[in-house]
Amino acid sequence: MTYELINGNNIAAELYGEIKERINALKSKGFSPCLAFVLLGNDPASEVYVRMKDKKCAELGMGSITFRLPYDTTEEQLLRKIREINADKNIQGMLVQLPLPEHINENRIIDAIDPMKDVDCFHPQNVGRMLIGNPIFLPATPAGIQQMLIRSNIETAGKHVVIVGRSNIVGKPLAAMLMQRGKGADSTVSVVHSMTGRLSDITSQADILVAAVGKPLFIKADMVKEGAVVIDVGTNEIPDPTSPKGKKLVGDVDMESVKDKVSAITPVPGGVGPMTICMLMSNAVTAAEYAFNNQAQK
Ligand code: NDP
Repeated sequence: MTYELINGNNIAAELYGEIKERINALKSKGFSPCLAFVLLGNDPASEVYVRMKDKKCAELGMGSITFRLPYDTTEEQLLRKIREINADKNIQGMLVQLPLPEHINENRIIDAIDPMKDVDCFHPQNVGRMLIGNPIFLPATPAGIQQMLIRSNIETAGKHVVIVGRSNIVGKPLAAMLMQRGKGADSTVSVVHSMTGRLSDITSQADILVAAVGKPLFIKADMVKEGAVVIDVGTNEIPDPTSPKGKKLVGDVDMESVKDKVSAITPVPGGVGPMTICMLMSNAVTAAEYAFNNQAQK
């Protein structure tokens, strides 16, 4: 079977065009959108993520500001910084880079973010709004996956979607989004995880299989139905003596094993990854649009 490679970079490029237009529309009304990043300590992976998002803001013509706080910042000091950003009218969106150091309670921090500035869509109010089908923001990775499906003309209505993984950032919200009524949804959703028995019996029933496991090359051909669409969320580094860096990035799906069986698949890299940053930027503009409209009404 020949398969379609779903190119996340191309779909993200199309979306960035739309995001830029929204930013320009705000600027033409004299409003400058600005997104804040809060980064604790100097975890190299977090540094890379924040730099990437910061660079993207610059490319799009959106303002950004990074607050770098020392690793030993206390929870109270971090809460104070978040309250400051909440109150700052020049900043409409904020993103606290996770994971936080162990001495800080992540839930307490997320709860403190103004829900209208919560571009990650982690605040319980935003999670609840998404669950009841009345969202302001959508979580970035699930929203990116949904956009990939819509923009690749992959039908989701009435399809059986099996999601491997039940995390709060991917599996659970994606399940909630795909079971809603509407475009890019209306699916029958199963969520499986490490306690699920006979995993391949379930995954091999999927019309659309989403792998968000965090285990390199976990999904093999015998777990996939002939003609299925496969979305690979995984980003895993494995040793690669042939690469100058000595490592390479692979997904949760063993592409070589499944590629002759699937009708469409997302690559790693170049699949879900670029879509995630793109949807974060879209949320940042949504936050700015909300702030602008709110200000205009006063
Ligand atoms: P988590 O570690 O939070 O969740 C992994 C899930 O996989 C858990 O629900 C776990 O089950 C399940 N799981 C683990 N082992 C098995 C197994 N043997 N059989 C069935 N299920 C299993 O990961 P995330 O959701 O945060 O991320 C998943 C992957 O996606 C990672 O590689 C991450 O780097 C990547 N990612 C990529 C993004 C992107 O933009 N491309 C964005 C976010 C994540 P249980 O709950 O029972 O432990």
